[in-house]
Amino acid sequence: MNVKDLFRSNIKNLSPYSTARDEYTGDIGIYLDANENPYDNGYNRYPDPHQKSLKGKISGIKNIPADRIFIGNGSDEPIDLVYRIFCEPRIHNAVSIAPTYGMYKVAAQTNDVEFREVMLDGDYRLNSQKLLDASDENTRLVFLCSPNNPSGNLLEKSEVINLLNNFNGIVVLDEAYIDFAGAESFSLLIDEYPNLIVLQTLSKAWGLAGLRLGLAFVQPEITAVMGRVKYPYNINVVTQKIISDELDAPRHSQIEEIIRQRRMLEEALPGVAVIEKVYPSDANFILVKVDDPRGIYNILINEGVIVRDRSKIRGCEGCLRLTVGTPEENRRLIEILNGL
Ligand SMILES: *Cc1c(COP(=O)(O)O)cnc(C)c1O
Repeated sequence: MNVKDLFRSNIKNLSPYSTARDEYTGDIGIYLDANENPYDNGYNRYPDPHQKSLKGKISGIKNIPADRIFIGNGSDEPIDLVYRIFCEPRIHNAVSIAPTYGMYKVAAQTNDVEFREVMLDGDYRLNSQKLLDASDENTRLVFLCSPNNPSGNLLEKSEVINLLNNFNGIVVLDEAYIDFAGAESFSLLIDEYPNLIVLQTLSKAWGLAGLRLGLAFVQPEITAVMGRVKYPYNINVVTQKIISDELDAPRHSQIEEIIRQRRMLEEALPGVAVIEKVYPSDANFILVKVDDPRGIYNILINEGVIVRDRSKIRGCEGCLRLTVGTPEENRRLIEILNGL
């Protein structure tokens, strides 16, 4: 398979907007090229459209060459971009697991691309053959999420590999929660599988959701096209600067604490009377099945604790999703639930 054949024709032939900063790339000088206000206030200049310095840092942390890194305004941006790059509206389709993260479907709908959902097997296990069966010659994208949201489990590696080997399109693997899982990232396999796009984010383990920074790891042929299709200045000056500083302070101890707290909750929750099932988690949240999801959700709200009611989603009937908080927040959650 040649990924070049998968690009939409309008994208293949796209000549991107050339920014002033593309034409002159030196460091110092008198900038009279971009119609900026010349008076320095820290923000008067346009940001680096290619985020070179940030990519260098991320490259070191993730052990992935910079030309294989795309930086987006949250994960939302690369999710939207893959539809715009690979799917001809009303012709091509995408296949995804269900239940999973809602943005894959929303982005399909806004791009007018058919979205096919394949229910996961029991205990939310991936059956790659079912996804292959649901795809046809117009399927350009398969969306996977591992650890999966909202179920919390890692997808089985051999099933993901089977899809990579047998699907003739792009496999998008969302690893938003990989730092909480005891598994190696698939980002280390992008050179082996040219049709693999791995998504990660700084919104969860890195604690930077408010800054909006998503990552895609993918071979250079595709990052180059993503770079041409994105808004030229998609990551602003302030975000680039703060993220660059934050990346110097790894979150190992916070992540370990969150995992310890998840284990504490996994032990405590099965003893709670109103809880019928606790699904095993490789993430920083736990899916639980309860007898009265809406009732319990409302009681928690009245106590000032907000959880996610996922009970209306197919495959998550009766389920609430509980994010792991601080030790004190988790104790309070268990205390309220035990009082029901
Ligand atoms: C939270 C989450 C993200 C993160 O999205 P951002 O736009 O980067 O904040 C991505 N994928 C999944 C599955 C998530 O749960």
